[in-house]
Amino acid sequence: MQREYDLLIAGGGLAGNCLALALKDTGQRIAIVEANTREQLQASPAGDRALALAAGTVMMLEALGIWQGISHAATAIKQIHVSDRGHFGKTRLSAQNEHIEALGYVITARDIETHVANLVAESAIELIAPARVAGLMSGDNEVYVNLKQGDESLSVSAKLLAGADGGLSSVRKLLDIAQHTTEYGQTALVTTVKTTIPNKNTAFERFTASGPLALLPVAKNQCAVVWTRTSEDADAMMLGSEADFLSELQQCFGYKLGELVLTAPRRAFPLSLIRAEKMVAGRAVIIGNAVHQLHPVAGQGFNLGLRDVVRLAEMLIRRHEQNEDIGAAGFLKEYAASRKKDHDRTIGFTDAVVKIFSNEWLALAAARNIGLTLLDHIPPAKKLLTRHAMGLAGHIPRLGRSN
Ligand SMILES: Cc1cc2nc3c(=O)[nH]c(=O)nc-3n(C[C@H](O)[C@H](O)[C@H](O)COP(=O)(O)OP(=O)(O)OC[C@H]3O[C@@H](n4cnc5c(N)ncnc54)[C@H](O)[C@@H]3O)c2cc1C
Repeated sequence: MQREYDLLIAGGGLAGNCLALALKDTGQRIAIVEANTREQLQASPAGDRALALAAGTVMMLEALGIWQGISHAATAIKQIHVSDRGHFGKTRLSAQNEHIEALGYVITARDIETHVANLVAESAIELIAPARVAGLMSGDNEVYVNLKQGDESLSVSAKLLAGADGGLSSVRKLLDIAQHTTEYGQTALVTTVKTTIPNKNTAFERFTASGPLALLPVAKNQCAVVWTRTSEDADAMMLGSEADFLSELQQCFGYKLGELVLTAPRRAFPLSLIRAEKMVAGRAVIIGNAVHQLHPVAGQGFNLGLRDVVRLAEMLIRRHEQNEDIGAAGFLKEYAASRKKDHDRTIGFTDAVVKIFSNEWLALAAARNIGLTLLDHIPPAKKLLTRHAMGLAGHIPRLGRSN
């Protein structure tokens, strides 16, 4: 017998699980189809990446009942120190000066991914895993989805399909939604270091001719490293020894935090921008990285994806309460229209930062790396951007508190 749902979510990553959790108490029949097992997801090296979360993201995670279970694993960014190698410019920003509790928070992706997966497992949401979406067809009242579970095929139907299956989204392809891809020819090298001097909740951004380097605080004497290099450099640095990598890192960053010691394996993430041409087709909507996979230099990917999730969830809750069809074309178009401006702004900004400042002006590009939230509340973001632009790119270090 074919299984029937109100909402079928493809992808049990951050976006898919957060959407399910936002709707878990609505009484709707919800299932998540996830390609990997829990064990595979937990063991994935990608889980090592540090995510910088905007203040608004933290508020949304709180409202969803997620933050309460992970706040202990997150580190507040209280200060940002931006420096431009080879130039005098240095800028400091502090939460205190901005009259806010924190400029952002840093958390390891695995911590938040594991927690949301646990919350889903404790709820009435059905998890179909490991299984992949292999085919789909929108009908008048339902979308029919074919799943592959090993050698078996499984047919399910739903009023609405939400594709949250990441940058290589199968749902996007099956819906025939075109995408624009920009290859940056850059790779983010990610690892963790122990430091002999405590970081005092400071995020460091260092601009060098070879690429922006960010050290984000994850514990008193521990920082997550996000180092953007050309793909050729990154390949060579991944093949070289840990000792050589560390020595180049130390040389590049200097001794502000004393001696650095690698405490995690090096991971490489090739960087590109993928943007889907549209967000909805038939009885399906795509959210999170399935619609927009961004360069992490601006630390905006999940922050933007969660805003998709929250907006969609709010609209779905209202629609369900009104007893209206949650997969109706007009309703989905309304959702897409409501998200376009934020997508345009965040994607355009990130892409411009990567391109415009990917040379001598890397300073400004890397400043974004902290994820600073700052797009969240635009006036401070502009203020910050301006300070960085003037203090670093223009080498006028007087703006902001410089030393
Ligand atoms: C190095 C790096 C640093 C980053 N730093 C930041 C940061 O500081 N701040 C920030 O906000 N963001 C950051 N990001 C971006 C952030 O990690 C992503 O935006 C976010 O994880 C995307 O979540 P998602 O759920 O949309 O997609 P994914 O995490 O890709 O999840 C998709 C899920 O779908 C599953 N799946 C795939 N295909 C199928 C299928 N056919 N059927 C069923 N399931 C399927 C996958 O197994 C996966 O579990 C960074 C990314 C990188 C690479």
